[in-house]
Amino acid sequence: MINFEYIRVATPKAAVDALVKYSVAQWIAGGTNLVDLMKKGVTAPQKLVDINNLALKEIKKEGNGLRIGALALNSAVADSELVQKEQPLLVQALQAGASQQIRNMATVGGNMMQRTRCPYFYNTDMPCNKRQPGQGCGALKGYNRMHAIFGASDKCIAVHPSDMCVALAALDATVLVTGPKGTRSIPFLSFHRLPGELPQKDNTLERGELITGIDIPANAFCKATHYLKVRDRSSYAFALVSVAAAVDMQRNTIRDVRLAMGGVAHKPWRLTAAENFLKGKEAIEANFGQAAQLAMQGAKGYGHNNFKLKLAPNAIVEALKTAVGKS
Ligand code: SF4
Repeated sequence: MINFEYIRVATPKAAVDALVKYSVAQWIAGGTNLVDLMKKGVTAPQKLVDINNLALKEIKKEGNGLRIGALALNSAVADSELVQKEQPLLVQALQAGASQQIRNMATVGGNMMQRTRCPYFYNTDMPCNKRQPGQGCGALKGYNRMHAIFGASDKCIAVHPSDMCVALAALDATVLVTGPKGTRSIPFLSFHRLPGELPQKDNTLERGELITGIDIPANAFCKATHYLKVRDRSSYAFALVSVAAAVDMQRNTIRDVRLAMGGVAHKPWRLTAAENFLKGKEAIEANFGQAAQLAMQGAKGYGHNNFKLKLAPNAIVEALKTAVGKS
């Protein structure tokens, strides 16, 4: 690890100013990903700006919805009675992520900003366009079992590792940010990006823009939700495939539904075609299966990850069955 300077700031403005002033600076909160990246030489900030003292930890009602501060711990969100009551899908996704110890350190904003766990990205002896643009992608023709089946490019086939973000994508959350040009809101689905020609860029934030919180609008999904995470071992493993399913039922009919997947793309992958198909349909396995087939249109394997082409539709059906109590 390289030597670095460390400073603390107390306000969002001071945090933004520090990043604008020092081109070699990075913010640190829980550090559960950043410190690993620094140890492995993937990133080498010369100044760390500690933002843990910012007053951005609150979890509260905002209008009819919820507002969660960017520095709220993953464990605090999962343990919040308010979130458990109003957005159980988010709680289920958080509980599926990492370990209790990591959830006790990791923040909501940091969870969104975490980098891919592609092994080539973490190994500085291997080529990786995300770490070093122009080097090539080691995973494209290498060992790509964990990699994307949707939205990849010939520059990068990595996936976003978060579980929390999959639920937030399904729940139509909004990201609140502040930066050198003021504040703005970003729809969650526009926050993370596909790799395209710029795989080094994970999201649509501009330099100096700080996440201050998340808004989740009120919805009618709290009675039928399920976050299904398929992984190699039952805890502390990243998703091979995950599905966030939230259903608003009227008797046995689906009045409305939200579906998103993790472990399949460079960003949380919303299943809009499947959602549209299911609205107004009976909640039966045959309809879930048809929705899953619609969701898989355009999917592409890269060799070792071809098994996801079968696993993903099966996971969609299973998540929906569980959400509506027909598992
Ligand atoms: Fe790097 Fe992306 Fe290729 Fe992995 S998939 S080696 S992160 S460019």
